[in-house]
Amino acid sequence: MATGVVTASYIGASILFILSLGGLSHQETSRRGNMYGIAGMALAIIATIMSDNVNTYIVLIIMMAIGGSIGTMLARRVEMTQMPELVAMLHSFVGLAAVLVGVASYLDPNAHFEGVEKVIHEVEIFLGVFIGAITFTGSVVAFGKLNGKIASKPLTLPGRHLMNLGIVVVSIWLGSVFLNAETVSGGMAPLIIMTLLAFIFGAHLVMAIGGADMPVVISMLNSYSGWAAAATGFMLSNDLLIVVGALVGSSGAILSYIMCRAMNRKFLAVILGGFGSSGAGGGDDEEAGEYVAVSAEETAEQLKDAKEVIIVPGYGMAVAHAQHPVSELTKQLRARGTNVRFAIHPVAGRMPGHMNVLLAEAKVPYDIVLEMDEINEDFPETDVVMVIGANDIVNPSALENPNSPIAGMPVLEVWKAKTTIISKRSMATGYAGVDNPLFYRENSRMLFGDAKDSVDAILKFL
Ligand code: NDP
Repeated sequence: MATGVVTASYIGASILFILSLGGLSHQETSRRGNMYGIAGMALAIIATIMSDNVNTYIVLIIMMAIGGSIGTMLARRVEMTQMPELVAMLHSFVGLAAVLVGVASYLDPNAHFEGVEKVIHEVEIFLGVFIGAITFTGSVVAFGKLNGKIASKPLTLPGRHLMNLGIVVVSIWLGSVFLNAETVSGGMAPLIIMTLLAFIFGAHLVMAIGGADMPVVISMLNSYSGWAAAATGFMLSNDLLIVVGALVGSSGAILSYIMCRAMNRKFLAVILGGFGSSGAGGGDDEEAGEYVAVSAEETAEQLKDAKEVIIVPGYGMAVAHAQHPVSELTKQLRARGTNVRFAIHPVAGRMPGHMNVLLAEAKVPYDIVLEMDEINEDFPETDVVMVIGANDIVNPSALENPNSPIAGMPVLEVWKAKTTIISKRSMATGYAGVDNPLFYRENSRMLFGDAKDSVDAILKFL
């Protein structure tokens, strides 16, 4: 295929990716956004395959068949609750790919760069491998923290900031050794040592972040994976990869910023880690007291009498697959003339937009699904709040206890409603491992059991 046609296809694909990002920013247009993304990726792959740079078709087809089959199998099997782990794993692949492409392009016997071009190419390789290695191990640790194989509590080693700074300084020095190396074999040693250090750096960086800061880590690694892809684009002189990498990198950075604002946290403080380490699980013992349990039948009675109801979904709704009965409950209450709305906390669930996706899947109308800022002041005028499998996002100690590990994080102020009914299985803590004094408030009622079973039971009594 002529170079001009490939370039035109790449521009077309870039436009489709931008339209995709635009579409994905609103629930109503997200399906269209997805379609634009698929079309852009298909166009990009076809144009790359048809370009003059590609001639090893057999290897390419075999690798695409293997990769495509594994991807399809995983995507079909993955549960909605495992999506964040899958995304973390996919980010790690992008990081590893950047490392491998960097090393391969350094070893490429056909690459003949001279003078300034050689320096630029080697800087691209060094930076690309550095970012890729951090993304790789950081994403693997994030994967472990999300699926519970690694404790969510931050690991705060003594002198950890010094250690991080030391790795950065040594990596810069290794970079200068790498650039001044006369031969490829001379440059390999600093490149490999830096890669190993960056692997440790990435893992340590994410190990030190935990509890309620994990959402920022996820979007931050998303951003890193974009920059790693952009660096790969520079190494391979592939314009489309540079554009796509920059789109992913900058949108991930914007999302991290939005998440930080939602959590009332400074980006640098999150990156440096340690948040949520002080006495996680404790801090509120003096507030712990008696809780009042309620049955599904009593809950149904309360809901029947209510004029204003707010439902607060959390991670437990996703685990229980309760979104469909919750949607049915909403429909029935609305049919009785009750004003039912949903309050969505920005970090509810285990990935940005998690609750919105589940509610959209269960066909809950978009216009009654409100963000925290839009609804948080309405709780005092609400008769019944139904908290379905949420915990950290409705924890009053974030606002009331300066010693709480989640102090300062904005939460949904559900305790201000006339009655707050909390559906969960036990008195266990949520992801951040922090006790929740909400459960012991005078107007709180605990509805114990799996969220789906509980909502199904309420429906029977309505
Ligand atoms: P939490 O993890 O705080 O609480 C979920 C609650 O759901 C648990 O206390 C659990 O209690 C209950 N639960 C679990 N399974 C069921 C079930 N089958 N039926 C009923 N209840 C169930 O979730 P939130 O949504 O409140 O908060 C999200 C947390 O995750 C925050 O700390 C956030 O920072 C973090 N996070 C968010 C990410 C994001 O991008 N959104 C990414 C990574 C982390 P019990 O066991 O008693 O049933």
